[in-house]
Amino acid sequence: MIRDNLDTIRKQLPPGVQLVAVSKFHPLEAIREAYAAGQRVFAESRPQELAAKAAELAAAGDCPEIEWHFIGHLQTNKLKLVLPYVSLVQSVDSLHLLKAVNDWGRAAGKRIPVLLELHIAAEESKQGFFEEDALEVLFRAEEYGNVVFRGLMGMATLSEDRDVVSADFGRIRAFFDYLRSLFPEYGDFDQLSIGMSDDFPVALQHGSTMVRIGTAIFGPREY
Ligand SMILES: *Cc1c(COP(=O)(O)O)cnc(C)c1O
Repeated sequence: MIRDNLDTIRKQLPPGVQLVAVSKFHPLEAIREAYAAGQRVFAESRPQELAAKAAELAAAGDCPEIEWHFIGHLQTNKLKLVLPYVSLVQSVDSLHLLKAVNDWGRAAGKRIPVLLELHIAAEESKQGFFEEDALEVLFRAEEYGNVVFRGLMGMATLSEDRDVVSADFGRIRAFFDYLRSLFPEYGDFDQLSIGMSDDFPVALQHGSTMVRIGTAIFGPREY
């Protein structure tokens, strides 16, 4: 079933769009099944859960090519659970967190790839940068020498109304294009992570380069 779901989704993705399988709340067995079906990039939203899953798979020698992204709200005291395992932190949603990630990277002698999470939804999420603050960060990018800015992440308003969702994605896409034109020297700033199970077709219309899909691959989550 997971294999079939992956096939169905992959058929809808244009070349170059990365599928990130959101495995939060699903057991390792589900991850192994998706991996066996060719999926390599997975994402989690809770630090402990990510660390436990990544450590267990690594210890078992399973899924050697697996890659992890973090997509949840990250408190600075949890960085050590997350940063050793991930190839991308998609959810850098505040200056405070950005500075802490940069400090961690400096101490570890690494550069940590990140996306800036933008506040685009009408109401529910209070997380994320406003455009002017994200702009300010990029103007001062050289202050964050241990971070690699790879692009933007955003979640649309939870709405059945396609026009609302489309407007949210349209705004983040326009801002993404604006940043790319303003900072052509940041060649790595090329990822726009928009689109989840219910809205990824709309996100693709707005130039998503990365979709984060859980339910449509693994089924409903049991919280
Ligand atoms: C849970 C989650 C997803 C996946 O949501 P689905 O609707 O299950 O596809 C994507 N992005 C973020 C940030 C999430 O927390």
